[in-house]
Amino acid sequence: MKIKQISLYIISAPLNEPFITHLETVTERAAIIVEAADSDGFKGYGEVTAFASPWYTEETLVTAQHMLKDFLIPALFECEISNPKELEFIFKRFRRNNMAKSGLEQAVWDLYAKQQGVSLSKLFGGTAKRIPSGAVVTGSSSRRAIQQIEDLHTEGYQRYKIKISRTNDTELLRDIRRYFPDLPLMADANSDYTLDDINHLKTLDEFRLLMLEQPLAHDDIAEHSLLQEKIKTPLCLDESIHSFQDAKGALLMGSCRIINIKMSRVGGWIQAKKIHDLCYSQNIPVWCGGMVEFGVSRAHNIALASLPGFTIAGDISSSSRYWEEDIIDPEVKVVNGWIAVPEKSGIGFGINERRLLAIANHKEVYKTRGEIK
Ligand SMILES: [Mg+2]
Repeated sequence: MKIKQISLYIISAPLNEPFITHLETVTERAAIIVEAADSDGFKGYGEVTAFASPWYTEETLVTAQHMLKDFLIPALFECEISNPKELEFIFKRFRRNNMAKSGLEQAVWDLYAKQQGVSLSKLFGGTAKRIPSGAVVTGSSSRRAIQQIEDLHTEGYQRYKIKISRTNDTELLRDIRRYFPDLPLMADANSDYTLDDINHLKTLDEFRLLMLEQPLAHDDIAEHSLLQEKIKTPLCLDESIHSFQDAKGALLMGSCRIINIKMSRVGGWIQAKKIHDLCYSQNIPVWCGGMVEFGVSRAHNIALASLPGFTIAGDISSSSRYWEEDIIDPEVKVVNGWIAVPEKSGIGFGINERRLLAIANHKEVYKTRGEIK
């Protein structure tokens, strides 16, 4: 496979509205856009979605840049690959750092798909022509959350996720249910509870949530299985799933009934596809989580969510929900609750280079000695 050079764009832009969880409030979002180019003029893109500080995973943008520069890009350049599938074995010798791996792997897959003239959706066996869209609500108060849901409802979003914590859960969910008794609603706790809260968590069953996402520790699988036995609401694992192996363990133990597959959290397309296939074979629904990301990651997620096991609306919303202007062209647009899966090759969206350069603070270029063929 031809690769001539890898470029990293370190970008940042303010969010239209702060993204609030009990762990962190994000107002300015930075990311690394990875560009893989060949000598025929094809360019593939990936996005590293680590945050500036390690509040969601252990990675940061600085550690990801270090991994890319000092390990992953040199490892890619020293091997001749014929298919990006081989990256799984090339990157295996470096533990974790999944978001750095995912950004580079995505760029190489996008380049490969463009060289082959096929969309990423098609390349990975996607079947959906359009995907349902869900939104994340992070209102700091019930009133703000209800207002956000009302606004989003007019755009037709099909599923709503509210960020909860032990200090606001019952009040927030009760207020939302009073306004929207039948809303497809789920809650994400980002690990704010322990097993000592089991009796309290049981009371959340009354809110008829589609699921409760990651209530217990971010690195737990075993205790979630004990909680799932005791509550009716299906549990969904997010932070606990970093690999196919984690997903296998969670399903073996009955730790959840749903999995949130975030490509960047699990290290890229190959792991995401393996987790999808495992869940699909066991009738475990999956959905695609978001990372408050720019359009490149969003585009990869749309292709991923077109696979047949993604039966629940993911956190993939319109670009305009987060950004004044996105870095892809056209921007992602939710129409009556749906997003069209592009048929063009690769990620199926062009890059808005003017915008990319306008928000890039820094660019690094790594060239192969000879072109990798
Ligand atoms: Mg989550």
